[in-house]
Amino acid sequence: MKIARSTYCGECHEDFKNGQVVWYASIENHSFCSNCKPNLDIKDREPRKVPGGDEK
Ligand SMILES: [Zn+2]
Repeated sequence: MKIARSTYCGECHEDFKNGQVVWYASIENHSFCSNCKPNLDIKDREPRKVPGGDEK
């Protein structure tokens, strides 16, 4: 899985958590949290992982 470059959701503007899987929409050039993903009418989106969260 590719790494998310954004640090917050392009829809609700909530900060992503470390290790969270988010949705990158290339047409928007932004990533969105899973809560906002169903609101997007975008076909070409792909999962991205927020860095961090793997360290314990
Ligand atoms: Zn969101």
